[in-house]
Amino acid sequence: MLKIFNTLTRKLEEFKPLHKNKVGLYSCGPTVYNYVHLGNLRAYVFVDMLKRYLVWRGYEVTHVMNITDVDDKTIRDSQKSGKTLKEFTDFYEEAFIKDLDSVNVRLPDVMPRATEHLEEMISIIRSLLEKGYAYKQGDSIYFSISKSENYGELAELSKQNLKENADQRLNVKDEYEKDSANDFVLWKGWKEEDGDVYWETEFGKGRPGWHIECSAMSMKYLGESFDIHCGGEDLVFPHHTNEIAQSEGCTGKHFVKYWMHNAHLLIEGQKMSKSLGNFFTLREIADKGYLPILVRIVLMKVHYRQNLNFTFVGLDEAQAIAKKILDTLIDLDFITATGENDFDAAGLVEGSRQKFLEAMDEDLNVSGAFAELMNLLAEVNRQIKRINPVQAKLLKEYLFELDGVLGFIRLIYDRYLVNLARVEKDSEIQEKIKQRLFFKSNKEYEKADGIRAELLARGILISDAPGDKYVLRLSYL
Ligand code: AMP
Ligand code: ZN
Repeated sequence: MLKIFNTLTRKLEEFKPLHKNKVGLYSCGPTVYNYVHLGNLRAYVFVDMLKRYLVWRGYEVTHVMNITDVDDKTIRDSQKSGKTLKEFTDFYEEAFIKDLDSVNVRLPDVMPRATEHLEEMISIIRSLLEKGYAYKQGDSIYFSISKSENYGELAELSKQNLKENADQRLNVKDEYEKDSANDFVLWKGWKEEDGDVYWETEFGKGRPGWHIECSAMSMKYLGESFDIHCGGEDLVFPHHTNEIAQSEGCTGKHFVKYWMHNAHLLIEGQKMSKSLGNFFTLREIADKGYLPILVRIVLMKVHYRQNLNFTFVGLDEAQAIAKKILDTLIDLDFITATGENDFDAAGLVEGSRQKFLEAMDEDLNVSGAFAELMNLLAEVNRQIKRINPVQAKLLKEYLFELDGVLGFIRLIYDRYLVNLARVEKDSEIQEKIKQRLFFKSNKEYEKADGIRAELLARGILISDAPGDKYVLRLSYL
């Protein structure tokens, strides 16, 4: 039984989708004004793993993730760059998709852009005005939180919290044009600094607020009520709190059944964020010589509700895990002898699959799942001499099956195969291998070993198999 922690109830709950085995999943996407950093990627890797696990578990998942391509930051920075908003945001959207690909995040089924969903947003705002949840002030339209009965439930905000929050904001900004400092904007009237970014609508010239985007795009593609909504924990308030208020105000229906929030990626104890300037992008990690896919392992390995401190030691550990798995796969590939046939590979796989599932069913306890994976590798290595080629194939297939959830094993293995083919076609290396064999047959062992050592330093290990055939394996990722 799959259990997930629902932020709405602060409880572990059995996962029961609204419609049989179909799951509607929405996650908040990026604001495309810059490259994403590793903190953002934690949110996307988490959703990817959740989605992969649901699919592995037999659910049919429809995943929607928005692209925020209009807001204060995209407008400000596109103006600075001298590009149109569209040219500017397209560039970062493309970079974002490349980054997701580098960490093997599967693209959502739908990736709607905010600027292409104005009609849907306008229709919600219109309905909120008609129902008395929203009011016009100046050229903008605001949501009145006092009209929303359960406002703040997701964030466990009491009326007292809200009042304190409002008082603070009023102290900071002495000219506040809203009725209450907590009311949030649905529609922003045009200001000079917006330049040519505006839509002419029944509300006048302006653009939508951020929160309304996600309500409009999630409900358009997943219906007025859907199963899971994800995002980083910083989005619980105000973003998701406001999404609930405006969606439920508009439809009168329960918006989302399960809310799931990933904890932050920290760096030196602080949230990694653009505004603090303490962030790394995937490009910077690659420039330091690490495979980007290792970032996926780092981000995934710690339970999603625990803070995770980013360090380069963590990346090295991820590399060690990847290498261990790859080495085992290569060992399995090199099994040629028939084993003793008394090894119960099927039993090992069945037991391991059960433990993997039990761990992941417990609110995606990925640390437990990784521990099981490591146990399996240790057992395979202990038994390697007893394993025959058929059993090796079964074990390998099982590792790839787990990779349906984990999403890095196949990628590392395929990369290894490409490198191996390249080495096998490399005439300089092939020449050295021939020389080594020549020295060996001439009993000039020192020279033969010299070549072997030289190749090993380049990550190419030659070992001799019976019949003078050499076996090549790469010792690098
Ligand atoms: P943003 O582009 O700031 O709206 O963030 C996109 C996603 O990344 C949201 O789900 C955020 O909650 C999440 N996020 C931002 N910073 C971090 C961080 N340091 N750790 C984990 N998630 C983050
Ligand atoms: Zn959102």
